[in-house]
Amino acid sequence: MAERILVVEDESKIARFLELELKHEGYEVEIAFDGRSGLERTQKGDIDLIILDLMLPVMSGIEVCRRIRKFSDVPIIMLTAKDDISDKVTGLDSGADDYVTKPFAIEELLARIRVALKRKTLAKRENGIDTLTAGKLVLSKLQHKVTYDGEEIPLSKKEYDLLLFLMENKGIVLDREKLIENVWGYDFIGDTNVTDVYIRYLRSKIDQRFGVNYIKTIRGVGYIFEDQAK
Ligand code: CA
Repeated sequence: MAERILVVEDESKIARFLELELKHEGYEVEIAFDGRSGLERTQKGDIDLIILDLMLPVMSGIEVCRRIRKFSDVPIIMLTAKDDISDKVTGLDSGADDYVTKPFAIEELLARIRVALKRKTLAKRENGIDTLTAGKLVLSKLQHKVTYDGEEIPLSKKEYDLLLFLMENKGIVLDREKLIENVWGYDFIGDTNVTDVYIRYLRSKIDQRFGVNYIKTIRGVGYIFEDQAK
């Protein structure tokens, strides 16, 4: 699947140019024209890398970067307008992974994007994947938190464990025994129908609440968790 890059840049000429070039390279691209909308888009999840202009209206690139770092380690490449050392230092201090000075050669930016994405993939492999996503649904293991389109979904411990197992096994049919073994434990004594009850809880909190259909019933077998269109 194509990696999704968020471009946060108020100069529409540059933003459009980047959009064209990045799409040409096979990336999916979204644009935010000010700092706050860039931050809000990032909170919704499902962004693989951010190109963040330093000089932005509403909220500066530095402030956006600081705030993103409170909840995400998504790679951030800063665009600094001036060839000014203090800008670069402030940018890196605020948590950016890299910076490119304007005016930039697109080839240089593309090379830095590839490096940042590769570094991210390696880090993921080393740390185990922290964040699971399915469309607008985001589960953060680190924060023990689930959101849909940025809105937090309060879940009980068992509901969370069940959702985590379903998302980790996206696209695989899971029967009730498998769910019991992995979510409730081998020593669980009781009716396997407990899985149906908890699936119902999850559906009412996610599928029904947001009008989506992540959890599907496979009659006579069990359940399957499937991605939703974005
Ligand atoms: Ca700017």
